[in-house]
Order: sequence, then structure tokens, then C-alpha cells
Amino acid sequence: MIVIEYKLKGKLKQYQAIDKAIRTCQFIRNKSIRYWMDNQKVNKYDLSKLSTKLGKEFDFAKRLNSTARQSSAERAWSAISRFYDNCKKRTARGEVSSPIARSKQKIPGKKGFPKFSKRTRSVEYKQSGWKLDNQTKKHITFTDKNNIGRLKLVGSRDIYFYQPEQIKRVRIVKRADGYYAQFCISIEVKEYVPATGKTIGLDVGLKEFYTDSNGQSIPNPRFYRKSEARLKKAHRAVSKKKKGSANRKKAIKKLAKQHLKISRQRNDHAVKLARCVVKSNDLIAYEDLRIKNMVKNHCLSKSINDAGWYQFRVKLEFFGKKFDKVTVAVQPNYTSQKCSNCGAIVKKSLSIRTHICQCGCELDRDRNAAINILESALATVGHTGSSILDMVNASGEDTSIIIGSNTCNSK
Ligand SMILES: [Zn+2]
Repeated sequence: MIVIEYKLKGKLKQYQAIDKAIRTCQFIRNKSIRYWMDNQKVNKYDLSKLSTKLGKEFDFAKRLNSTARQSSAERAWSAISRFYDNCKKRTARGEVSSPIARSKQKIPGKKGFPKFSKRTRSVEYKQSGWKLDNQTKKHITFTDKNNIGRLKLVGSRDIYFYQPEQIKRVRIVKRADGYYAQFCISIEVKEYVPATGKTIGLDVGLKEFYTDSNGQSIPNPRFYRKSEARLKKAHRAVSKKKKGSANRKKAIKKLAKQHLKISRQRNDHAVKLARCVVKSNDLIAYEDLRIKNMVKNHCLSKSINDAGWYQFRVKLEFFGKKFDKVTVAVQPNYTSQKCSNCGAIVKKSLSIRTHICQCGCELDRDRNAAINILESALATVGHTGSSILDMVNASGEDTSIIIGSNTCNSK
């Protein structure tokens, strides 16, 4: 599945109609959660039936295309099933996980009881309720009774190449700087890339974005830091304005746009880098880090979030699948302490940048770690474990890589 994204251009009235559709989606999603809470043994099909029922009951719900209603109910179900999954897998927060619990692979963390959504930002249609203009495919018309009507698609990617049957879903997403249409297209994304005979281990760090087992390092893109001053200013502007005032709303919008820009830069960086690494190696090894836990560490959190490792890993795995390469997440045990030459444990604090071992091995600290990561991966290949993609897919989130993101700035 790939996602192609366009910006939508329309009239104010049309945007208002989109907002209305999004509110209806939120209504159905929350009604579904409520129904699940109030009744026993509710399953996916009950929620689907409920969405049909709501369509008959409420006029505004009736105006929304039936597949969009269904998608909302499905969204509620994925929140519920994620919660069920987590109940099986996770220990309660703060609970000491005993060796027995660990052996059952209980991981700590929240279970994520489904919440009522207050800020739904999208409406999703399946294969009906919309139509692309026949010839140019530069316009989309929403045909349900919500009166969204015909909107212009702005973006450089051409959806022309794909058959209408390949478009499985169309999603309208509201962002700080406008409305976007995402087309989820089902295609086999595999692409043949010749084998290179190379393997690589990556050690992600604070100083560098990563250092690989060949000793090369990629500097950290400090988008966030760079834009921090501007962000701070935008934050201050918000807090200075009176609550509920129009000026405050304007300031909030400006702040949201700043955040949006950073997240796009981060995404672009991750896609480019991951694509390049995966293309030029046959096996890519990296640490199975729980970023959530690391972010709890206060001093480091900003840099860790900043570097966007998680997004990078998701993209590594995406391109791994696409180019048919092996990606391995290894357990982060002693990767920086172990000597990559003789296996001895050489303790060192974070400030010591060079690994020096009695065996005579002297290496950059991060490179030593990267070699250990690679070795550990090569020892476990064949057992690549579950990837983040599978985990996230199971939890119902969308991990498709947006490749046609329209990053033009509209003012
Ligand atoms: Zn050694």
C-alpha cells in the first residue's frame, strides 16, 4: 500500500462541508466506543451494524457516504482491538515485571483504554462516495450528500498511472495549513535492486544521527533546534493573547504550522536516508530501542525526539520490504560496552568517546557499537523477529509511507 497525497483547493463553503463530515466521523467513532463500553461481547460486526443504524437515525449521519461511516466504526474498533492486544502483552504501568512475566514477553507500558476522540482530523471514504475527473484526474468530486463537491488536487505526483480499482481508500485530512487528500493505492511495492554483498550495522546516537560499522557517520539534522527560536516566539505569542480571542486563534495556527514544517523536514530526511542505506546494503542491523522509555530521560529527550529515530526505523523497514533486503532489530545489550574484537566487556561512561580494549582494539565508541550490532544481527539472521511495521499494522495504525507529500508552502 502506498499513499499519494495532494493538497485540496476549494471554496470556504466546501471546507466547511469537510469539517462537517469530519465531525460526523467523530460522532460515529465515539458512539461506537460508547456502545462497546455499555454492552458486552461487542465485536467488529456489531459496530459496523451500529454505523448503519446511526445513518438511519440521524439526518446528518445519513448525508455522509456509507463507507465513510463504516470507516469511522472501524477506527473505533481498531482502538478497541489495540487495547485488547495490549492487555495481553503488557504489564500495568509501574508494575515490576517478574522474570516469569518477562518470559511471557510482557512489556511494560500503558494499555491504552479507548478514549473518546475530541479532535478527529480526517474522514475516510472507501471505494465509493467520490470520483476523479476522467481525463486529467486533477479534480476530485465527493458525491455524497455532504455537499463537499468538486475540489482541485494540487501536487506533483500523478495519480494518472493507477487504475481506479487500485485506489482503495480516499482520506481527507485537515492540517494546520489546509486540507489534504490521501489516496491509498494497493500496489506491489517490491522493486528489484541488485544484491551488493554488503552488510551494515547502525548505531544511533545523540552526537551523530547514526554511526555505521564501517566508521562512517551521518550528522544529526537539528531541524527542531534550528527552528526552536522561532517556535518559542510562536509559543509566546499564543500565551500573550487573550483566551478565546481571534488573535489567539491566529497565533495558534501559526504555531501549528511551525510544527508541521518540522515534521515534514524530518520525514523527508528519514525517507532519503533510509532509502539510500537499504539500497546499498543487503542486510541492515540496528538496535531495538524503546524510544518511549528513552524519551522519559529528561535531559536527552529533546535530542532523541529531534533525531526522529522512530520514523527512521519505520522507513528502514519499509524500504527493506520494498527492495527485498533483510532488516534486523537486535537487542540493545552491551552493544557499546562489548569489545567488537575480543568480546570483553569494557565499561565506559557516555563521555568516553573511544573504545580501548586490552586486546589492542581501539575504535570510535559508536563504530564499536555498530560492529557489535551487525555481529549480533548476523548471528540471529533467519530469526528477524517482528518488525515495527508488523507491530503497528497489528495495532491498526497506518504506516504506509507517504511518498507524494506535497510540501509546498501555501500562504
Ligand atoms: Zn578487545
